[in-house]
Amino acid sequence: MRYFDHAATTPPYDEVTRTIAEVMALHYGNPSSLHRLGEESGKLLRRAREVCAGALGVLPGEIVFTSGATESNNMAIKGAALQYVNRGKHLITTVTEHPSVYECCRQLEQWGWEVTFLPVNKEGKVSVEQVDEAIRKDTVLVSVMHVNNETGSVQPVAEIGSLLKEKYPRVLFHVDGVQGFGKIELPIKESGIDLYSLSAHKLRGPKGIGLLYVRDGVTLQPLLAGGGQEEGRRPGTENIPYAVGMSKAIRLAKEGAPERAVHLRLLKDKLIRGIATLPELELNSALEETHGAPHIVHFSYPGMKSEAFLHMLEEEGFLVSTRSACSSKRAEPSRILLAMGKSPEAAAAGIRISLGEEHTEKDIADLLEALNKCVRRVRNLKGER
Ligand code: PLP
Repeated sequence: MRYFDHAATTPPYDEVTRTIAEVMALHYGNPSSLHRLGEESGKLLRRAREVCAGALGVLPGEIVFTSGATESNNMAIKGAALQYVNRGKHLITTVTEHPSVYECCRQLEQWGWEVTFLPVNKEGKVSVEQVDEAIRKDTVLVSVMHVNNETGSVQPVAEIGSLLKEKYPRVLFHVDGVQGFGKIELPIKESGIDLYSLSAHKLRGPKGIGLLYVRDGVTLQPLLAGGGQEEGRRPGTENIPYAVGMSKAIRLAKEGAPERAVHLRLLKDKLIRGIATLPELELNSALEETHGAPHIVHFSYPGMKSEAFLHMLEEEGFLVSTRSACSSKRAEPSRILLAMGKSPEAAAAGIRISLGEEHTEKDIADLLEALNKCVRRVRNLKGER
């Protein structure tokens, strides 16, 4: 089986799994304990925080460890909404955010906040002008993802950050960086970003851990009540093995980023060109090589149930997905594709192929052959030639 679902999750690096097992077995002390074992764990945690901060180009004290990007996104948005309620109760986001942002904003609406969900163009993008026009006196926070997890659309987050810092310095800017980190360069400090979410398992690290960058000077209301861990921002005994594992994964993701992006773009380009030769398949990812994230290709096969096509590809030895992993069991058409102006038929027939650094040109050639074979099978089933 060949795995082409890296936007859902990634195979962990051997180095990461080895380190996690070692830390778990040997350094089981609670970092809050005052004895030697506790101190050792505390040291590992501090080092992990420094490594993550270094890779992000921020200060260690600006990193909060969480259980993943779902928590980071909720912490950023709800934490800011609650903390800065005296500034107003208006938030801005986009219609194509990951559910951990989108549903969080919907929940805040139910709790009395007002949210502007910006529409996207046919490439899945919002513009800086749209954000500028949506800002109000009572706007507290803007949340825009870097790279869309379903289609790979890239949002102009650095430009939005500049606008906010220059014109609206009181408005906080949150970026869900999960699908962009290690693929597309985004200097956090220089991009006017106040809050930035990551999840380790999208970067070949462990599941169940992530982080939130909280710019020095920004305060968030903690979502959980408990002990004083993470400087009172996120109580609960720290997950030392996973924090260390995540720090390794993030460091590796950052170090190899330029070469990885070139390699992935080359593969994506070949894949897109191949898919474009199959008239039944409608590409939903940007065609131009330089547009869109380098690792995500998304297409629709109108008239074909995406789950059925996914299983046909699986029979050929390729694992892909129909859309984002957390929405793949939903029956309704994709919210993201509908927002991009796709027909309900196309929006219900999406297939996402997401690439990893370990893939080769041969993998892409074989995948294209499998795609061709599956399309031919469907043609035959439909009685076409
Ligand atoms: N944001 C984006 C863009 C994602 O792709 C994901 C994962 O699917 C998340 C947030 C949530 O990450 P996690 O499931 O690790 O909490």
